[in-house]
Amino acid sequence: MLSENFSLQTLNTFGMNVHARYFASFQNIDTLRYLLKQSTCKEYPLLILGGGSNVLFTSDFQGVVLKNEINGIQLESEDDQFYYVRAGAGVVWHELVMKTLSLGYFGLENMALIPGSVGAAPMQNIGAYGVELKDVFESLEAVRISDGEIVVFSKDQCAFGYRESVFKNTCKGQYVIVSVLFRLNKKQVLKTHYGNIEAELSGMPESDRNPIAVARAVMRIRTSKLPDPALIGNAGSFFKNPEISLAEYERLKLQYPELVAYPVGNDKMKLAAGWLIEKAGWKGVKRGNAACHDKQALVLVNLGDASGIEIFALSEEIIESVHQKFGVYLHREVNIF
Ligand code: FAD
Ligand code: NAP
Repeated sequence: MLSENFSLQTLNTFGMNVHARYFASFQNIDTLRYLLKQSTCKEYPLLILGGGSNVLFTSDFQGVVLKNEINGIQLESEDDQFYYVRAGAGVVWHELVMKTLSLGYFGLENMALIPGSVGAAPMQNIGAYGVELKDVFESLEAVRISDGEIVVFSKDQCAFGYRESVFKNTCKGQYVIVSVLFRLNKKQVLKTHYGNIEAELSGMPESDRNPIAVARAVMRIRTSKLPDPALIGNAGSFFKNPEISLAEYERLKLQYPELVAYPVGNDKMKLAAGWLIEKAGWKGVKRGNAACHDKQALVLVNLGDASGIEIFALSEEIIESVHQKFGVYLHREVNIF
């Protein structure tokens, strides 16, 4: 069941030409449990792969890659306000967004066109245009790698933060997420204040404004700004937006009055990392085929046959240069292997 020396080139959106020492895919929990019991899976490092849109391989993976292909979307229950919808971890995220909208279940529209799988969404509490996974999340089921038991995680237990969850921290490498239960609204509550959504919808009669129109607006904005991984290798934002103290923000704002920042609670500010990188002079810069995207500096791209090491080296240069200029340290969002 395990293939050896398996090419991952089409399974990561950076298009890195690397191989897994061992590889298998699973379409249900029984197969996953069977695989986890194999001695190879116990002896070698494991990597659970979804759509490969948030990973950078810097070399061949000297372990076992297990690709999640658990499908299925079902309405589990409903109450006065919400539909509770369960999706298999292998469902393509954008397909879930469009399917639920077509059924009149609302809440995922601002997260249209985020690449990847449902199972990876809780890993970094995916988010876009003012909505995060945690806003529509009820619970998830995960298989514990050590003994194959199914464990249910509530929202609190997931400890979601900005591009963070328990699965990137204390539970790192211990669970395979197999399904997610979403709490989707029966009522339409449009969130259009973020980015250019309002501008995209301008001129549209009030009666035509609905979650599907918002999803379409988000899709148009994203398509105009972000490189399509099918054409240019990338993993979306390479870095997180840094959060800094108010005092640090005041210091920077004096020096750079045009600084782009947003409040986080009462005591922190979130800086737009793309702005910092652009102002440090990196937008469009190429190092061979590794480059900082010319429309959105937060995205690093593979223009051809760049290696993971070259992309990583470019990210090091950017971190160093932004730190020198602004005194702010950027952290990578993409998972490096
Ligand atoms: P993968 O890349 O396959 O895996 C990512 C990590 O999760 C790995 O560490 C992997 O081991 C782990 N993992 C995956 N599945 C499971 C599972 N079932 N159980 C346990 N661990 C698992 N992200 C955002 O938050 N917002 C955006 O707007 C956004 N836009 C993007 C735009 C582009 C063009 C691209 C290329 C990426 C973008 N991303 C965005 C990043 C990415 O799409 C998300 O992080 C997505 O959730 C990754 O899903 P995936 O299935 O591809 O995960
Ligand atoms: P943008 O609209 O140019 O905005 C730049 C940054 O400012 C974003 O990162 C966003 O932070 C923040 N921002 C903008 N308006 C805000 C507001 N009203 N309140 C608080 N923060 C605000 O960003 P973009 O690059 O085109 O991306 C648009 C959305 O898609 C963002 O939400 C972004 O996170 C998401 N996206 C994510 C990835 C990824 O790989 N993670 C890739 C592409 C796009 P936030 O990032 O915190 O929202």
